[in-house]
Amino acid sequence: MTAATPEVDAFTRPYWDAAAEGRLLIRHCTACDRVHHYPREFCPYCWSEDVTWRPASGRATLYTWSVVHRNDLPPFGDRVPYVAAVVDLAEGPRMMTEVVGCPEAELRIEMELCVAFRAGDGVSVPVFRPDPR
Ligand SMILES: [Zn+2]
Repeated sequence: MTAATPEVDAFTRPYWDAAAEGRLLIRHCTACDRVHHYPREFCPYCWSEDVTWRPASGRATLYTWSVVHRNDLPPFGDRVPYVAAVVDLAEGPRMMTEVVGCPEAELRIEMELCVAFRAGDGVSVPVFRPDPR
């Protein structure tokens, strides 16, 4: 589920509204003080429902990736090749996403990335690009 058109429902609405404004949100559990991603209505660590939205820094490091050269599912067909990736957010959670703006040969494990947003289909999807720092 890299960047397919996401399901937006009442629960995930704040996440997508923030994305449309260029902000990445993660979920923070008040009970055990841990964060998680993707967003869940309860904490995956302690099952507490005392979980709130919190802004993420948008910084991440590259954990692993796969260059996808063929995908017949819309909207991917027009977009190949693309870099399907798993990144470690600075806050800890691991996130499935896509790396953009980086030649395949320059991808490196643990390279520093920052969040960017790709608009389309009425939804802005968080993707990551090399951090210019
Ligand atoms: Zn918890």
